[in-house]
Amino acid sequence: MPALKRISFEFFPPRDEDGLARLERVRARLDAAGPEFYSVTYGAGGSTRDRTRDLVLAIHAEGRTVAPHLSIGSDAPDAVNDLLDAYRDAGVRHIVALRGDIPSGMGNRSEVYYANELVARIRKHSGDHFHVHVAAYPEVHPDARSPETDLAYFVDKVAAGADEAITQYFYNADAYFDFVNRCEQAGVKVPVVPGVMPITNYANLVRFSDGCGAEIPRWIRKRLEHLQDDPPGLQAFGLDVVTDLCERLIAGGIPGMHIYSMNQSKVPLALLDRLGHPLAERN
Ligand SMILES: Cc1cc2nc3c(=O)[nH]c(=O)nc-3n(C[C@H](O)[C@H](O)[C@H](O)COP(=O)(O)OP(=O)(O)OC[C@H]3O[C@@H](n4cnc5c(N)ncnc54)[C@H](O)[C@@H]3O)c2cc1C
Repeated sequence: MPALKRISFEFFPPRDEDGLARLERVRARLDAAGPEFYSVTYGAGGSTRDRTRDLVLAIHAEGRTVAPHLSIGSDAPDAVNDLLDAYRDAGVRHIVALRGDIPSGMGNRSEVYYANELVARIRKHSGDHFHVHVAAYPEVHPDARSPETDLAYFVDKVAAGADEAITQYFYNADAYFDFVNRCEQAGVKVPVVPGVMPITNYANLVRFSDGCGAEIPRWIRKRLEHLQDDPPGLQAFGLDVVTDLCERLIAGGIPGMHIYSMNQSKVPLALLDRLGHPLAERN
């Protein structure tokens, strides 16, 4: 099996000091995998603006490479520019540019714009300073009118200046390879890195997946449902499923892997260990 070259881990900004301290220990452990970068999510509607920025700047100050998410389809342009300037001035070089899903009651929907416009704004405001990542949806974005329009908008987003894409998670490798083929046919040249969601909790996974349009194949869903009161059994089964998925992805020649860590280190590291990825001495 080819070696897994580039790994990144995604965090969400914790709400309190305890969560921040826990996350500091998590990233010290995840460093063992030699990640290319850590990314930090942004609550659309501006709900985590300060927490995301503070965590990003803290991770950057530790000497780690960090990619702040900007999921700001409803934020005012000045707020976007201020954040870009704060990151550029600190020396942050990556951005994950997203439209985001605006929580009801937050944001001004009249200002909503799409991720391709955000990418263009980033390029206009910050030139080539940032390596810009965008989102991709092998199983089709839930709001898309059709798979064809979704792909066409993705192509536009890349053409606006994206350097690479990270996918929504999926449990069906064929969906990823089909999407990559369609991208190649449409002339997309940037890497499309699969996003991988470890399976640790039945209720949370079902809730997330229903919300973001990621399909949990029926046989997996049924097995997880049956195991929901047996956390060790569920995690062992989940690890088998995700290891098998990743082995297929690696064998198919993926350019890297973005792991939705859910601010945990144990399962992501167990997954990488199963995949034969070298893990340095842990802290
Ligand atoms: C790797 C990754 C990280 C994420 N991180 C976050 C995060 O930190 N915070 C958060 O809130 N959400 C996050 N999300 C979720 C994401 O914000 C949502 O999926 C959101 O609904 C779409 O964002 P997008 O950037 O893909 O949107 P877009 O690329 O703008 O697409 C959104 C929808 O609009 C359609 N569309 C695109 N462009 C146009 C156009 N010009 N005209 C008409 N229709 C168009 C597309 O087909 C699609 O259906 C993440 C998703 C991924 C895959």
